[in-house]
Amino acid sequence: MLQTRLLGLWVCTHSVTCRQRAIKGAQRQYCPLHLTVVKKLLLAISFSVLAIIVLANWSAVSRGGRKIADKLLLVVHVARLYAAPPDQKLAMPVPGVSRNHVADTWHAARDGDRRHEGQDIFASRGTPVLSATEGYILNVGENRLGGQTVSVVGAGGRVYYYAHLDCYAPHIAAGDHVTTQTVLGYVGTTGNAAGTPPHLHFGVYATGRALNPLPLLSDRATDKSAANKIEPVSGKKKRRT
Ligand SMILES: [Zn+2]
Repeated sequence: MLQTRLLGLWVCTHSVTCRQRAIKGAQRQYCPLHLTVVKKLLLAISFSVLAIIVLANWSAVSRGGRKIADKLLLVVHVARLYAAPPDQKLAMPVPGVSRNHVADTWHAARDGDRRHEGQDIFASRGTPVLSATEGYILNVGENRLGGQTVSVVGAGGRVYYYAHLDCYAPHIAAGDHVTTQTVLGYVGTTGNAAGTPPHLHFGVYATGRALNPLPLLSDRATDKSAANKIEPVSGKKKRRT
């Protein structure tokens, strides 16, 4: 302490001038220089406490920082994608299915005066669903009609919508980069597809308008070397609902 009680006097040990200003008991006074020093001390203590709290919670702070950085990075990636021309060819999202075997149901009547805004690609339950394009995952989530769904943004800002998934591929999350070899999930009957044969509902959206995916689809190579590139191929993140 720079100020101490000595023989009933508050004695300032800071300087002679300051000591001369010391008075008795309750009428203690502080010199301006003392107040500055005390303020600095309090400030230093506050910073120390803050530093200890931050260090103690460093992993949480770090995680938060990483999340913000990841989101900013996604915005940069998506901005780059918007500037690119949209894909003219889409890889068949269900391997082993030929484009010729997809019955065209574009704009077929659906419940509630709806039109079918996509194509249904039928396959055995659990068949992997691959991204039809390169891009970034925008959303992994459930809704009433689509069930378990994944949305991917690709070149030109197009959004590719994969619905009725039996379950998601392990560890996929919004912001992930995907290629035409990335498994997004597995064919199923979630959402309003319950009770129908398992299939993937595949939708393509450009600036909020649905496009018919069928003319854009192209068959995948069926040779073994291509099949071996698919990743990941094992494990399931979520049980069918
Ligand atoms: Zn459909």
